[in-house]
Amino acid sequence: MKILKKASTIPLLVKIAAVVPVALLVVFFAVFFSNTGVEFPAGIHAGGLPVTVAAALPQTADLDRQAFVEDFWHWMFSEAGIPERMAHNVAASMLESPAFIMELLVVLQGGYYTHLLVDKQHALPIDYSPDDLVPLTAGGSFRITRNDLQLRRSAAEALEEMAAAAAADGVILTAASAYRSGARQAEIFAWQVRTFGLEMAERQSARPGHSQHQLGTALDFYPINDAFADTPSAPWLVANASRFGWSMSYPDGYEEVTGYRFEPWHYRYVGRDLAIFIDTYFEGIQQFALQFIQAWQERDSL
Ligand SMILES: [Zn+2]
Repeated sequence: MKILKKASTIPLLVKIAAVVPVALLVVFFAVFFSNTGVEFPAGIHAGGLPVTVAAALPQTADLDRQAFVEDFWHWMFSEAGIPERMAHNVAASMLESPAFIMELLVVLQGGYYTHLLVDKQHALPIDYSPDDLVPLTAGGSFRITRNDLQLRRSAAEALEEMAAAAAADGVILTAASAYRSGARQAEIFAWQVRTFGLEMAERQSARPGHSQHQLGTALDFYPINDAFADTPSAPWLVANASRFGWSMSYPDGYEEVTGYRFEPWHYRYVGRDLAIFIDTYFEGIQQFALQFIQAWQERDSL
């Protein structure tokens, strides 16, 4: 976290994650568990309110509550640039129970690197580097294509766990690219521009500071090209990665959302809680969930 002090927003995010959602929880608990839609003042009951009127009143109150919840989540999701239908689904779930908020709180308790948005609009400091990188070594359940691969410890452990499960299914995962420094990313982007031209480079390679690989939690499986989609690893990961806390960052058909073309080989470790959160509320699209978290935290810092 020392290095991150250069990025003024990050310590604030951590502070907000700890404090502000609790305040919102209080509001929601007040709404959900208050009896305004059910009970009547004692005087009215004592006066013998007609049954038909008594039945109508709670319904009115419920409609008010429903409108409040719907309005709030539609506003929140539109702030985050997330499709209307997802706001509707979350609002509907919130009318049943506050599970979404509880799960969000758990997600925010994870390391900042599990949920920090790093994309074309949101960069890391160019000299940022993770403080708990460990080497990926041969001898475990996965293969490596080179000896200098590193991931954050939690991501490396989750990779081993996932690779063991894949191996049990007869699928051998091979790691081809992991942590990359900002300087290394600059070299790669320059090479991409020289090789493919600027337009294509922008679609498949991040500018320095903007790569998830700099977080130490992103991994490219072998081969790092379209042929990966035809390997047994591709469907296995699609079906199983989120159980181990891994999430595909650049899914097919979402280039306008993520900024990158389909990269079936690129996964980011986000932790089990966030991976399930993404699948449950954001149709499996990591970018939407991270945009939501970013908007949630920005809103709280106003
Ligand atoms: Zn990648």
